[in-house]
Amino acid sequence: MFELIKGDEGPRLGKLTLPSGTVVRTPLFMPVATKLSVKAIDPIQLALTGTEAIITNGFLSHLEPGSAVLKDAGGIGRFMGWGGGVFSDSGGFQFIRKGFDAVVNDKEVRLRSPFSGEKVAITPESVVDFHCMHGVDVGMVLDHCPPFSSTAEQIMDSARRTVLWARRSMERIRSLPEGTCPDGKEKPMIFGITQGGTDPSQRSECTSDLVRLGMDGYGIGGLSIGEDKEDTFRSLAASTSLLPIDKPRYFMGVGEPSDLIRSVSLGVDIFDSVFPTRNARHRSLFTRQGRENVRGPAWKGNSLPIMERCDCMTCKKFSRGYIHHLFKAEEPLAATLSTIHNIRYMQLLIMGIRAMISEGPFSGSTSVNDVLDVALSEQ
Ligand SMILES: [Zn+2]
Repeated sequence: MFELIKGDEGPRLGKLTLPSGTVVRTPLFMPVATKLSVKAIDPIQLALTGTEAIITNGFLSHLEPGSAVLKDAGGIGRFMGWGGGVFSDSGGFQFIRKGFDAVVNDKEVRLRSPFSGEKVAITPESVVDFHCMHGVDVGMVLDHCPPFSSTAEQIMDSARRTVLWARRSMERIRSLPEGTCPDGKEKPMIFGITQGGTDPSQRSECTSDLVRLGMDGYGIGGLSIGEDKEDTFRSLAASTSLLPIDKPRYFMGVGEPSDLIRSVSLGVDIFDSVFPTRNARHRSLFTRQGRENVRGPAWKGNSLPIMERCDCMTCKKFSRGYIHHLFKAEEPLAATLSTIHNIRYMQLLIMGIRAMISEGPFSGSTSVNDVLDVALSEQ
C-alpha cells in the first residue's frame, strides 16, 4: 500500500494507497478535523487548498455523533462530505489534557467525556473497533503519551504499556471479520506510535518492539510537548533510524514550517497539526515574513493580498485591508478566508518540498521561503 518513489533513509517521496482507494502523496500534511470539521472551512474549500487527507479524533467521534451513527452514514468521509483520505487518532493524546481526568492502567483508560461529563472506558481493542466502524483509512493505536514532566520510570512504564497495547490492537484488527466496516469497506491500516520520551534507549527499545509487530505504519509520538527542540530532533532521528524503510512514518502534531522541513530530511513522510487553522482563527497569517498579525500596521487599508503570488482563493480575490476589516468587525468570514490561506500555505510548502526532493538533494536547513519559491514557480 506504500510505494517509495525516491529516497529511503533521508528525505523521501512516496505514494500511499489507502483502503478506500484514495491515493495520497508523501510528504503529506493533514489539517486537523477533531470534531469532524476542519474549523471554519467546508470540505470543498479544503480540497481546493490541495489537502489530500485529514485527521480526526476517534474517541471524540465515538462519543459524538457516535460510532453507530457513523457506521450507518457510511463512515466519517461520507458523513462529513469529504472525499479525500481520513486518518484517525485514538484520542490517547487527551491523556495529557487535564480536563479529561484520565485514569490509566494496563487494561484500559477511563476518560471524562467532554460532552456528558461521565467517565468512559476505552481499550486498545475498542479503539480498533471504532476505527473500523468509522470507516477510516488509517487508525492510530491507543498509546500512552506521558506528560513532559514525567519521571524516567513513568516514561519507561508508558513505553511498555504502548507496546502491550499495540500488540493487542494488531491481534484485534486481525481477528475482526470482514463487514465490520461500513459499506463493505476494507479494514483500516493500523499505525503504531513510538513513545519513550527523549531518552534515546527508551525510544529505541519502544520503536524496535513496535516494528516487530509488523504494523502498517508508524507514528512518532510523545514529542513536541514542551521539551527542548534539539531533544525533539535527536529523539525523532532515534525513531526513524529504526523504522522499516518501506512503511510510512508519521510525526504527529508537527506543523511549524521549519520543523517540517527538518523532519522530512530525517525521513518523515506524514504530518498533522492545528498550527495553520488555529493561527488563522487568532489573526495570525502565514507570509514570507513568517507569521503576521492582522492587527499590524501593514494591514489596514492595504490593497495587496496576504501573500503575493499565493494562488489560494483568498489571495486571488481579497486584500489584506479586507481581512483586517473582517476581523475588526468580528465577521465569521475572517476565520474562513484566513484558514483557506494558511492551509494553502502549508500545502505549498509540501509541494515545494516534494519538488526539491524530486529534483535533487534536500537539506533539513533549507529555508522556508526557498521552499515556497520552488512551489510558487511551479504554479
Ligand atoms: Zn493565499
